[in-house]
Order: sequence, then structure tokens, then C-alpha cells
Amino acid sequence: MIGISPLAREFWEHGRSALCPIYDMHGHMGTFHSIYFPRAEAADMIRTMDECGVRMLVFSHHHALFAPDVGNVPAVEAVRRYPDRLRAYCALNANYPEQLEVALADFDAYADVFVGFKFLPDYHKVALTDARCRPAWEFAEARRLLVLTHTWRDSPYDGPAIVRQIAARYPNVPLLLGHSCHDDWDAAVALARDFPNIYLELTAVFDDRGPLEKFCAEVGSHCLLFGTDLPWFDPHQAIGALLSADISDEDRHNICHRNAERLLAPFLT
Ligand SMILES: [Zn+2]
Repeated sequence: MIGISPLAREFWEHGRSALCPIYDMHGHMGTFHSIYFPRAEAADMIRTMDECGVRMLVFSHHHALFAPDVGNVPAVEAVRRYPDRLRAYCALNANYPEQLEVALADFDAYADVFVGFKFLPDYHKVALTDARCRPAWEFAEARRLLVLTHTWRDSPYDGPAIVRQIAARYPNVPLLLGHSCHDDWDAAVALARDFPNIYLELTAVFDDRGPLEKFCAEVGSHCLLFGTDLPWFDPHQAIGALLSADISDEDRHNICHRNAERLLAPFLT
């Protein structure tokens, strides 16, 4: 029977666990065209995090991804307002190479804010392997920065074949596969097995019964990361799916906090 482990019981009874804080490694922030988010600004998102037992969110701001004239400024402001709860990925859009150059040049001024970079290749229509992205990859490789990228099955921009090239070329970059190549779960498993620097991020995995158990069995939970795309999806749904999956509490601890704590440690000193 599922959902009756000691950790699951603790969450069902208390709504959280003191020994199992949650690090959400894939979030966003701010308004977005064509959709209404009731809680999209920092203070409201932290209210959601408090309700769900989420200790920290690592995010990229929608404006940084889709309004290059605004850029990462709102993300910087939010992290500095809530330094105990937020960190950001510096969002890069390689359609604007001159802005990418500035982001790299200024990066050290935001050591208290950024843990690495975020790419959104399917939306920006720039492949991870595109020459315009190379300065960012080399920068991340030299500094061992985290890189979260959207990944999707068969995509010419961020599909498994593209990810494979990048993971091999930049072995020092912890490469977080947002959505785990949705929904080519076998490809995600193969990538995580072949490359120790690859992590499978679970946004949009929680909505499908089976892949979480498959990932734990075939790769191991040491390379899985909790994520929700907050404010797109509700952490309660993801946490419920995690607690109801047929995996061990040790797996759940790895997914919720241990792996993230290890990855974030260099950036939280
Ligand atoms: Zn996202």
C-alpha cells in the first residue's frame, strides 16, 4: 500500500516535516501573458511555500525570460528581499548575445543572488549547442555553476541528443534537466546513467503515474530534484504525488532536500 510511510503520515498529519524540508529547484515569478496567476509575486509565492513546507525556491523570473529589456532585475530584487527563501537562476536569452555578454560580465556582483543560469531553448528557438550560448557554458564550466534548462522529447533545441552533447562537453556543470525530457522517460534515464553531472528535475513528472518509480529504480534518487514551475503548478500536488509514489522515504529525502542541499551548498555560504 502506498502513502502510509512514516514520512507520508507526518505530512498528512502536519502538512510538512521538520526533518524533510523541500527545496523547489524549478520556479518562476511574475506575470505571464495569456494566463492569470493568483500568486505570482514574491510575497505571495512565499505564502504558498509556507503553506506547503517549502524552505527554498530557486527560480527564473518570467520577465527575464520574455522581456529582455527588463531582464533579471526583478529576480535580484526578490532574492535580496527574501535571502533565506529565494535564489535565482540568471535567465539568458541567446537571441540577445550582447545582453548575455553583460550578464556574464556582471555576474560576480550578484553572488548573493544567482546559483547559475537558466535556458529556455524551445521558447527562444536557440539550441543549447548554438554558438551564441557557448560563452555562458564556458563560464559555467569554469565556475561549476548550476544550469537549469527546459528539456523536451525530440526537441531540436533541448531534446536528449542535444543534452547529451552538452553534458559531455561541460562535465563540471551540474546540468538540471527541467521536465526530464518530458515525456521520453527512457531517454532521461539513459542520460542520467551516462553522465554523473546530470540531474532529472521533476516538474511535469509528478502529473504522470509511473516515471518517478521508474527513475528511482533505474537511475537512483541521488540525481532527482523536486520542482514545480511555481507559480504554474501547486506544490501540494507535487508533494502529494511524491508521498504517494511507490518509493522509499530515503528516496523522498534525497528528492526533497539532500540533493539540493549538496548542489546549493557552494552558493549558500
Ligand atoms: Zn519552467
